Amino acid sequence: MTGGPIHPRLSRSSDPWMGREQKSRRRVPSGTLCYLCGKPIRQHDSWNRDHLPPAAFFGSALKRVFAFNLPWLYTHQSCNSAYRGDEEYTIAALAGHAQSATGNAVMDDLRSAFRQGHKHGLLRMIVSAFGKLTGPRGEATFALNRTRVERIAWKLARGIYYRELGLVLPESRPGHPPCQDS
Ligand SMILES: [Zn+2]
Repeated sequence: MTGGPIHPRLSRSSDPWMGREQKSRRRVPSGTLCYLCGKPIRQHDSWNRDHLPPAAFFGSALKRVFAFNLPWLYTHQSCNSAYRGDEEYTIAALAGHAQSATGNAVMDDLRSAFRQGHKHGLLRMIVSAFGKLTGPRGEATFALNRTRVERIAWKLARGIYYRELGLVLPESRPGHPPCQDS
């Protein structure tokens, strides 16, 4: 994977903003859009980089081994922050079920955060979502908040769409109005 800013309609190899971004990491190329709201990011706006997919999807252990450089997109800080709660929920809710090196690495990060006094509310919510019913192989039921997970899945799809086509997809989909962090 190649890291760096993604400017629509330009191939990554010819993107003139890549070098400039490395020299001046806080300067936003003129005309840059936030792929989440579709509005321009002005120089005085607070903005940040939204990795695609989010770096937290992989866990620190994997990032240390593979040192990959994720691509990213410009967003307004406020637009990106509006997804943080759902993103953290999605990662925590799915990682424990993944049964993979990636899932285990993410679970290690969550345990570490818990030991340092972070994410207690989130992890309590995840634990409480396990039901008392167990299946024939001892598996427990889990009440996944689909609205939150689907919101993040749609955000990922919007990011890929913007990266590939330079077009902003709306947050709302037919039958799926935008929701707030809960
Ligand atoms: Zn925005």
